Amino acid sequence: MSDAPPNPPPNTLENTSDEYFLFVDPEQIRRERQKAKDLRVSQWWRQQIGRGRCYYCERQFPKEQLTMDHVVPLARGGKSSKKNCVVCCKECNNSKGHRMTVEMTMASMDDNS
Ligand SMILES: [Zn+2]
Repeated sequence: MSDAPPNPPPNTLENTSDEYFLFVDPEQIRRERQKAKDLRVSQWWRQQIGRGRCYYCERQFPKEQLTMDHVVPLARGGKSSKKNCVVCCKECNNSKGHRMTVEMTMASMDDNS
């Protein structure tokens, strides 16, 4: 993995639209990945991680076991915005894959019935 020099793009992420694109430009995904990288070293993210709580299962974890997850995956046109990036434990991260939160909730409801 080669690390690009820390040069965060101007933050225009608050104006993300609600539209999901079926086809996402690979270049856009690359850009959003870089933004996620920048976000991970931000004060804001340290605060999120500091709470130690997984967004999905709401259990507490030591921060080493928490990762950043995109609620709307980048592959579905999701952005690396503060709204779209959540704290996620590795377990949830693995089980979620590329599914959306709604789909995941429905799947777990099936399991429990
Ligand atoms: Zn979890």
